Amino acid sequence: MYSEVFELHAELLKALAHPRRLEIIHLLRGQALCVSDIYEMLDLPQANISQHLMILRDAQAVTAIRDGKQVIYKLSNPKIIQASDMLREVLIDQHQESELAEYLSMPMKDLVPVVHDPVCQMRVSPKTAGFSLQHDGAHYYFCASGCLKKFQQKPEKYVTNN
Ligand SMILES: [Zn+2]
Repeated sequence: MYSEVFELHAELLKALAHPRRLEIIHLLRGQALCVSDIYEMLDLPQANISQHLMILRDAQAVTAIRDGKQVIYKLSNPKIIQASDMLREVLIDQHQESELAEYLSMPMKDLVPVVHDPVCQMRVSPKTAGFSLQHDGAHYYFCASGCLKKFQQKPEKYVTNN
């Protein structure tokens, strides 16, 4: 029994111990997503994402819910996010002097590539967005079809203060 406890603990950590899977966990913070949402946001092939999701599912870190033709993924337990955040706090402590410090200490919500083009509302990932712009201290991402220009002409029309 004694060693089984550590085996189980290690198995769960192993399932989480991959940069892409940590990204997925992070994306599922407070929302359920289907595979295509996830692969669009991470800009990775669907087969690759499916494999990662399978590992997370086997470890019961995520739950798959069938919704018509789609399969929606959500975190099985919100404590997984707490655990991940806690480890990031350790990283912040460890990297205070490094150039990564600024990114590590960024609020997690600002690190999420779940963003909408403020003009056309298309979902874009900071990794794949056509254009980005900093306005009033916030980052905005735009599709590749002219929304950046519209935004620059009249940003106040598109910036929501919430
Ligand atoms: Zn657009």
